[in-house]
Amino acid sequence: MRSVAMVTGAQRGIGFGISQVLAHRGFSVVLCDLDKSALEEAGQTLPDSHTEVLDVADFAAVQVVVERIEKTWGPIAVLVNNAGINRDHMIHKMNEEDWDAVVAVNLKGQFNCMRQVIPYMRARQAGRIINISSASWLGNVGQANYAAAKAGVIGLTKTAARELARLHITVNAICPGFIDTPMTRRMPPDAFEAMMEKIPMGRIGTPEDVGRVVAFLASEDAAYVTGEVINVGGGMVL
Ligand code: NAP
Repeated sequence: MRSVAMVTGAQRGIGFGISQVLAHRGFSVVLCDLDKSALEEAGQTLPDSHTEVLDVADFAAVQVVVERIEKTWGPIAVLVNNAGINRDHMIHKMNEEDWDAVVAVNLKGQFNCMRQVIPYMRARQAGRIINISSASWLGNVGQANYAAAKAGVIGLTKTAARELARLHITVNAICPGFIDTPMTRRMPPDAFEAMMEKIPMGRIGTPEDVGRVVAFLASEDAAYVTGEVINVGGGMVL
């Protein structure tokens, strides 16, 4: 039987790239995202995958969906917390909604999923959790809400890694640099070009570049790796 991987924000962008790589490495992927029809369209392209409509910011909804995945599709072996949004403004122009929305999805959403999945993993004394942070956690002009949430993800990851290490559950974070997705394609052209100039490898990353590192962390080869923060950015952060 294939091991189950739950991936959030999976219908497009990095989440879909991660789902593709995991599906082709033999996982049964449960794609979770907000939009039912987009999810189903994405799921149809992957072997042995399933879909769940899920707003990761909704604590109660996460509980229901995680329970359903465990009962219907099997034990969750891998949780990939990928769902994320940005609402960029300088701090002096950022409103309360922009702050709250970004922290609710990017940080609390990861806690919500971990809170529901970890009891199952603890009972089995096995599991892999991979949290998607961002190179922006180090600070980025116009992204106070996003950077704060993504820095929070690092603290959450390292704490969970310490709590779960003796139970053979690993928890790691990945910081993508600049990856070609709808999120980055929404940027103004001059800002896009400025980001490109910061990449020593001279090319934008692909969702599969991130997916392959997720697959490594989910594999037996990474059994002794926990609490790490891995940059996937073509040398953007050195
Ligand atoms: P994206 O293209 O905007 O895709 C994000 C996906 O997450 C979308 O399908 C979106 O659904 C979904 N989503 C948003 N809010 C959600 C919620 N509350 N519950 C469940 N799903 C939700 O973004 P991306 O570029 O692939 O980014 C994926 C992750 O990588 C994010 O955590 C992002 O912060 C991180 N990251 C990206 C980059 C980059 O260069 N692209 C760099 C560093 C980190 P809707 O479309 O329906 O809103």
